[in-house]
Amino acid sequence: MKDLKDLWEFGLETYDASTNQRFDMHVALMTTVSDFPGYEMLSGWSTKGYLACPECHYETDFEWLPCSGKTVYRANRKFLDPSHPWRHDKRNFDGKLKERCQPIPLNGIDVEYMLRDFPNAFGKKQKQPRRDVDDPNPWRKIPIFFELPYWKHCSNRHNLDVMHIEKIFFDNIIRTLLDISLKTKDNLSARRDLVELNLMPELQLIELEDGSEEFPRSRFWMSLEQKRKFCQVIKNSKLPQGYASNLSRCVQVGERKIAGYKSQDALFMMNYLLPIVVKTTLPKDVASPLIRLSPFFKGICSNSNDPYSEVIPEPKRKSRVRLQGKGVKKSNLKKKENKSDFIFLAEFLENMQAQLVQQLAPSVTNAILTQLRDANIFLLTKMGNLLNLEPQSIRCMASKMEMK
Ligand SMILES: [Zn+2]
Repeated sequence: MKDLKDLWEFGLETYDASTNQRFDMHVALMTTVSDFPGYEMLSGWSTKGYLACPECHYETDFEWLPCSGKTVYRANRKFLDPSHPWRHDKRNFDGKLKERCQPIPLNGIDVEYMLRDFPNAFGKKQKQPRRDVDDPNPWRKIPIFFELPYWKHCSNRHNLDVMHIEKIFFDNIIRTLLDISLKTKDNLSARRDLVELNLMPELQLIELEDGSEEFPRSRFWMSLEQKRKFCQVIKNSKLPQGYASNLSRCVQVGERKIAGYKSQDALFMMNYLLPIVVKTTLPKDVASPLIRLSPFFKGICSNSNDPYSEVIPEPKRKSRVRLQGKGVKKSNLKKKENKSDFIFLAEFLENMQAQLVQQLAPSVTNAILTQLRDANIFLLTKMGNLLNLEPQSIRCMASKMEMK
C-alpha cells in the first residue's frame, strides 16, 4: 500500500529510451482482477449470502431454496432492455412479469460515504455482523484501496477473471449432462425446489401410490450409449499443438466421466468442442442454448462484439438476413421482382460465408449464399439488358462476381 501511495505521489525515476531522457513516472491502480471469493477481499462486500452481488448491491434479488439449502439469484430479466418481450413472458419464466430496471452500481464516492464509520476489525475475535433477510449486512471491511486518494473516482474498480468462471460453468454443464452422482445440479432437492418456485411442472417429482417418488426425465437426459459417444468425441479430438493439454487423459469413456482438466482446457472445450459434442448427441432445443454459450464466452474475452446478443436473441426474430443495415426477408429473395435490389461482390459473399459458418450449419449457410448468388445473376442480366450488352459479356461479368 505504501508503495502504491508513493508511486502516485512522488513517482519513480524512469528512463525513456525514445527521447533518451529520464522522467518521473507516476503510477495509479485503476482496477483489480480476481475470482469471485477474491472479490470480497478486495471490495469489502460479502460475496456470500443474500446480497452476494456487489454490482447489484442492496438491490440484489435473492430467493432461498429450502430443499437445496441455497440462496439463488434468478431475477436476470431485469437486465434486459425495458421493451424486451421476455420481460412480459409469464409462460416460459416463473409466471411473473419483470418490471424492475437494472440496478446502478455503487460508485466509489457513495461507498466511501457509506463506510465512513465502519469498524475495521480483523482476526478471529471480530464480531460477526448480524445477517438475516431484514438486515443482511453485506459489508465486511473498508477496502484498503480507499487510502489511495484517487480510488473513489475509479469507475470500474473490480473485475472478475473469466477463465475461472468459465471453468466452473463448464464443470457444472458436464457434470449435469453426464449425470455424475453428487455433482449433478439436476438432483432430488433441485426437483423439489421446482414445486416451491412454481417452475416447470413437467419436471416436478410425481408421487406414486406406494409412497415413493418418480423422477421425470429431463430434456437433456442421455442414455448410457449417448454418454459414451459424448465422451468418445472429446477423447478422440485431435487438437493443434499448444491449444490444450492432452484431453484424452481427462476422459474416462468406460466410467463416462471427464475430470482432471485445467482452466485452459475447460476454456478450449467450452469454445470449440462442446458445441460439436452437444450437437451430435442432444436434441436441438437443448443443444442450441449450449451452443450459443461458446460465442458468448468468446465475446466476453474480445472487445469487438456484444456478448449478450449471442445468448439473448433479438426480439421478434424472423427469417431475416441482415444486409448492410437493411432487413431483407429470405422469401423476398425468392420473388423475382425483388431480386434487383441487391448486388453482392465476391469478397462480401466470402466474408459472409466465413461469418455464417461459425454460427449456422454449413447447409443453412449454403442455402443463403445460393440465394444471394441467384440475386446477383438476375440483377446483372437485368442491367445488361438495359445497357444492351452482349449475353457473353454479361456471363463474363457474372463469373467475375461469383465465388470460385
Ligand atoms: Zn448482480
